[in-house]
Amino acid sequence: MSIGAASALVATFATFVGVLYGGDAAGQTRPRGQMARSDAGAIPASCNALRVPDDAGHFIAREDFTPPVAVVDGDDLLALVNRSPRWVLAPTYAPRDLVDVSTMRPAPASSCTPPDRQCLRREAAQAYQRMAAAMRREGHEPKLDSAFRGFVTQCTVFAKWAWRRGTAMGFCPATNASAIPGHSQHQLGTAVDLFTLAWTRGGAHFREGFGCSNGGRWLAQNSWRFGFVLPYPLHPDYRAQGSDCAARPEHRGRVDPRTGYKHEPWHFRYIGPENAERFRRAWEASGPGTANEITLEQWLRERLGARDAVEPPSCDGCACGECATFNDGSAGSAPCPAGRSLLLDRSGHPTAARGIPTLMATRVVRDGSAVVIYARVRVPAQTLTQPPIGDAQGIARYGAGATVHALSTAEGALARDYRALEGAWRVGVEGRDERAQRGYPWRVALVEGGRDTTANGFNSRLLATSGEVEVGVRVEGLRAGQRVRVAILRGDEAVDSNDARLP
Ligand SMILES: [Zn+2]
Repeated sequence: MSIGAASALVATFATFVGVLYGGDAAGQTRPRGQMARSDAGAIPASCNALRVPDDAGHFIAREDFTPPVAVVDGDDLLALVNRSPRWVLAPTYAPRDLVDVSTMRPAPASSCTPPDRQCLRREAAQAYQRMAAAMRREGHEPKLDSAFRGFVTQCTVFAKWAWRRGTAMGFCPATNASAIPGHSQHQLGTAVDLFTLAWTRGGAHFREGFGCSNGGRWLAQNSWRFGFVLPYPLHPDYRAQGSDCAARPEHRGRVDPRTGYKHEPWHFRYIGPENAERFRRAWEASGPGTANEITLEQWLRERLGARDAVEPPSCDGCACGECATFNDGSAGSAPCPAGRSLLLDRSGHPTAARGIPTLMATRVVRDGSAVVIYARVRVPAQTLTQPPIGDAQGIARYGAGATVHALSTAEGALARDYRALEGAWRVGVEGRDERAQRGYPWRVALVEGGRDTTANGFNSRLLATSGEVEVGVRVEGLRAGQRVRVAILRGDEAVDSNDARLP
């Protein structure tokens, strides 16, 4: 989460993706890391500007600023704080053990306004000083850009991004560059935006290239020894060939569906040396550089018992269709139209859909050496689906031999297993004449064409498009006259189907 650096911005609010937690401990006992609603407090008056729509009508609903559920206990070193409306810090929350990083003297939160005064929680500040000393010994003079930022400071930072008139700014690019207040790890007093002096001399320094600089590499390799981890790494699909720090040009600044943030090689969070080592072991076991690589987000969620590995961000009007909200729209105060936001109930779980998807029609079109099998489906509001999401026409493309269990959805993207998730609906197609083509090997999300497909970078549940939706699968190598079955799938189970013969 950067304070500066317009150059780091990419104008598209890359959509994110979703998935919800469901089935975790909320609702009965509070999950670890959350405290009671009554502690949430009201929004400071100085932050009200963020609830006024920008020129394009984007804003955050009141319910998503002060959610009607328990909010996160920031004192927990392993607190989950992300873009979701549920995992939010109270406006009143600030750590009670903040110190000025340069003097190590206690500092009240209100006095900690970077860059004038950088503060961290005492334990994190001590660890930071040890890490900074190690950096210096290795010839990397540290440059701390930002540490603790209180809720009100974050309002100012975010508003500066969003309300810079006469430029290409606005709420959406701001959301891509900066966290909405309450959702910033900097409010925990354990996160730093850290560079080297050499790097910051080069001008605008919030650039991904820092990850490949000598100092950036040193931090990525050694910070965990001091208890710091990198929450927003580079997604494996976005990497330049043979590199673990540089993105291919078309993926620079792209949001990572695992975290909801773009690659931030300067943002480190202190979780303690033991936790950092535990996380590192889990990360290594997950398969770094593979489609299964986890981030801190997935590790923390697993600890909380959350069922899904990611969940959709708060609705702000920028990525309608791939966001979640506590606002039911009854007061006309929702930033996304009805059916374009995942509604959360008072326990923070997705509101159940009324009814199930029904198959209305199917059609098959030959396309060179491939066939495209389309299904028109009636989808009730609040239906959950999952990747693979189709292209601009809603079509998922399967090359020769590809199946939903090993599918690369974009050029350069790793093939991943889009295995069925509980409660998620898709359209599936199988061949009827060959045993090897059974089990619906070709599937597609119930998502209308044209939605950004960032969501394909991680297999998780997300909101289906409601109403009448046509989606399709394009499959190479099927012969004329062959019989296929098109089905509505709930998980792996077909609940409605049509048979067709290929032209
Ligand atoms: Zn940051």
